[in-house]
Amino acid sequence: MINLNKEQYEASQALQGAVMVLAGAGSGKTRVLTQRIANLIDSGVYPHNILAITFTNKAATEMKNRLSATCDVRGMTICTIHSMCSRILREDADKLGYSKNFTIYDSTDSKRVLKKVAKKLISDSDTADKVVASAEVTISKTKNEGIDLEDYLTSSGVATDHYGELIVAVAKEYRQQLLSSDSMDFDDLLYNVYCLFKDFPEILQKYRNRYKYVSIDEFQDTNTVQYKIFRQIAGEDGNIFVVGDDDQSIYGWRGAQADNMHKFRKDYKDVKVFYLEQNYRSTKKILTAANNLIKKNDNRFDKTLWTDNSDGVRVESYTAMDEADEARYCLQQISALRTRGYKYSDFAILMRINAISRSFEQECMSYGVPFKVFGGFKFFERKEIKDVVSYLRLVVNPHDNEAFLRAISTRKGIGDTSIAKLTAYAEQNGKTLLESLDGIEDAGVFTKNIAFKFSDFFQKIKILAGMTAQYPLEKVASQAVVFSGITQELRTEEDRSRAENLNEFCLSAAEFAENNPDAGLLEFLESISLKSDLDEMDESDYVSIATIHSAKGLEWKVVFVVGMDEGIFPGNRALLDVAQMQEERRLAYVATTRACERLFVTHTSSRFLYGNRQYTTQSRFFTDIAGEPQRVQRYDEDGVPMFDIPVRSDKIVANRASVSQFTSSFTSSASSSIVRPTANKDAGNLRVGQKVMHQTYGEGMILNLSNGNADVVFVSVGKKVLNLKYAPLTPLD
Ligand code: ATP
Ligand code: MG
Repeated sequence: MINLNKEQYEASQALQGAVMVLAGAGSGKTRVLTQRIANLIDSGVYPHNILAITFTNKAATEMKNRLSATCDVRGMTICTIHSMCSRILREDADKLGYSKNFTIYDSTDSKRVLKKVAKKLISDSDTADKVVASAEVTISKTKNEGIDLEDYLTSSGVATDHYGELIVAVAKEYRQQLLSSDSMDFDDLLYNVYCLFKDFPEILQKYRNRYKYVSIDEFQDTNTVQYKIFRQIAGEDGNIFVVGDDDQSIYGWRGAQADNMHKFRKDYKDVKVFYLEQNYRSTKKILTAANNLIKKNDNRFDKTLWTDNSDGVRVESYTAMDEADEARYCLQQISALRTRGYKYSDFAILMRINAISRSFEQECMSYGVPFKVFGGFKFFERKEIKDVVSYLRLVVNPHDNEAFLRAISTRKGIGDTSIAKLTAYAEQNGKTLLESLDGIEDAGVFTKNIAFKFSDFFQKIKILAGMTAQYPLEKVASQAVVFSGITQELRTEEDRSRAENLNEFCLSAAEFAENNPDAGLLEFLESISLKSDLDEMDESDYVSIATIHSAKGLEWKVVFVVGMDEGIFPGNRALLDVAQMQEERRLAYVATTRACERLFVTHTSSRFLYGNRQYTTQSRFFTDIAGEPQRVQRYDEDGVPMFDIPVRSDKIVANRASVSQFTSSFTSSASSSIVRPTANKDAGNLRVGQKVMHQTYGEGMILNLSNGNADVVFVSVGKKVLNLKYAPLTPLD
C-alpha cells in the first residue's frame, strides 16, 4: 500500500456509487485513483469489470505498470477514451454499417474528403471553400456534443438558409463517403459509440455488465459526448469515480467542459465528493506563485491548496533580448544546475505554442544537451510514412478510398486524368476504387500501358494481403516500403532522410509485434492512429521541450515556462475574449504546477515568429507568477549562479539564419562556459550525448544507442535513426 493521507485514503476506499475527487494540482488525484483500483481488486472485484480512462496512452501504461506491482491487471481495461471507443467499435460497429476492419481517418484524410465532396456539390469555388470551413467546424462540434448535425442546424435556424442547406448537404455526403470507405474520423469514434449505445440497448447492456466500475482521470477535460458515453455505461446509479481539477481545464477549444464537474454533482444521486488540499509536488514558493496566478480567475470551485514541502528557492524570471538569448539563459541554468546533481530528465522547457521551440532545440544541441520535443509534428504524420501506411491500410480495408488515392499517387505514370476516369468507372459499377482494378486490363477502359500499371498496383496489394497471414509484421511493412518505390532513388539528402524514416517505421512495426504478440496489422495501424507523441516519452536522460498541453498530469524537478510574451501566452485570440483568457490563465497554472523544486519564467523583448521579428511585451501572467522581473542577478537563494547575459550592440538579428549565426558565434566565443561532450577517439565507441559529424547531415548529437542503431539529432534535419554498421559517423571534439 502506497502512502496516502487521511482524505486520500478515504477517497480511495469509496468503492461504490458515484464519487468525485475535486482537488488542485499535485494533490494526489491520480495516485488515489490508482490506489482505489487496487482496493477494488482487494475487495474481490474482477479485473475484467474495471474500466479506467486516462488522458494519454502513456498515462495508461504507467497506471498499468504501477498496479501490476500490487495486483493482477490482466483483463482490466485501462486506456484513453479514444482507444476504448475504438475497441467497442471493432466489436460492434457492424450495427452501424461498418466492418470490424474500419479505418480511422486523421484530420488530413477527412479534410480531403470534405473538400472533394464540396467541390462535387458546389460549383462556385469560393462558396465551396467557405462551406468546407463551416462544415468542418460544425461536423466536429456536433459530434463532440453528441447531437445530430441536421437537428442542430434546423433548431438553430441555420439550415433554413441556402448556406445552411449547403452545409447539411456537404455533411451528409461526407458521412456517406466515409461510410462507403468503411472509415471513421477521430470524432466519429466517440459519436458512433454514443449512437451505438443509444440505439442498441442490448449492446449497451453488454458493456454495462462488463464495466461495473468506471474510473476517469483528468475529468475536467471531458467533452459532452464523452460525458454522455460515461453516463450511458455507468447508468444512473452505477459505480463511477472521477477525479479532476476545474483549474486545469485546458481543452475548451476541443469542446471540453469543466462544467461537467458541476453536472456530475447534479446528475448522480448521492454523489460523494472528496476534497484534497495538500499538494505534495511543489515547494511553498512555487505553490504560492501558482495560487496567485489562478485566483484571478472567477467561476472556480473554491479550493485551498497548501503544502508541507519546504519553502524552496524563489521563482526566477528573465527578460531576454530575443529568442536566442532566452534559450541560452535556460541552457545556462541547466548547465549550472547539472553541477548540483540534477539529471537532464529533471528539466522541462514548457511553452504555449510549439512554433517557438526551435531556438531551444538549437541551444540544446550547441550545449551537447540531449532533448526531446513533444507536442509538435508526429513521426507518423510524415509524408513518406503516410504513403507507406496507405498501402497497409488498403490491405486491411480495401474500401478505404483515401488510402487508395494516397498509395496510387506514389506510382509513376498514373496521373489525375486516369484517376478521375477510374473514379467514374468505379462509381458506375458501384465498386470501390481498389475493387474496380480487378480485371481492369480486360475492361477496355484504359490504354494498355495505364491498365497494366493499375493491374500491377492491384497485384501488389494482393501480395501484401497474402503476406499478412504468413510473415511477421515488419516484413509486411518493409515489403510495403519496397512497393511504394519511395526508397528506389536516393538522390538527394531529403530522399536519404525519408529512407531512414521508413527504416525507423519498419523497426517500430517489429517493436509493436514484439510487445503485442497476439496483434496483427489492423492493431498496428490502429496504434499509429491513436498514438500521441507523448507516448514516446521514456525513462532515458533528456530534457523535455514540450507544449503545456502535452505536459498535463506530469511533473519535473525544474520547469522553465518560456515565451511568456503577451500575444503568445496569452495568445492573441484570447486578448478580446474573457473565456479564452481564463483558459490561458489555467494553462499558465498547469505549467507552473508541473514544477517540484525550481521554476523559471522567461519572456523576450523581441521574437522572430511566423516570418517576422516582433517586439513583444511581457505576459500579464509573468508578474503574477514571479513578481517584478529580476533582470540582473548572479546567484539564486540556494547559491546557484544565475547567468547575466552579455548584451551585444547588434542586439536584434534579422532572420532565422542570422539568429543561428549569432548563436554559433556566441557559443564559440563563450565555449569555456559550455558543457561539451569530450572527444571519443574510437568511432566504434560512440556514446549518448556525443557530438558527431555525418557526411550528408553534418553536425549532430547522439540521443540514444540501441540494437546497433543510433538516434542522432542533426542541426540541419532534426532527428534520424541510423544503422551504426553503415552510417558514416565521425565523433567530434
Ligand atoms: P495533477 O493535478 O497534476 O494531475 P495529481 O493531483 O494527479 O496532479 P499526483 O500526480 O497523483 O497528483 O501526485 C503528485 C505528486 O505527489 C506525485 O509525485 C505523487 O507521487 C506525490 N504524492 C501524492 N500523494 C502523496 C502522499 N500521500 N505522500 C507522498 N507523496 C504523495
Ligand atoms: Mg493527475
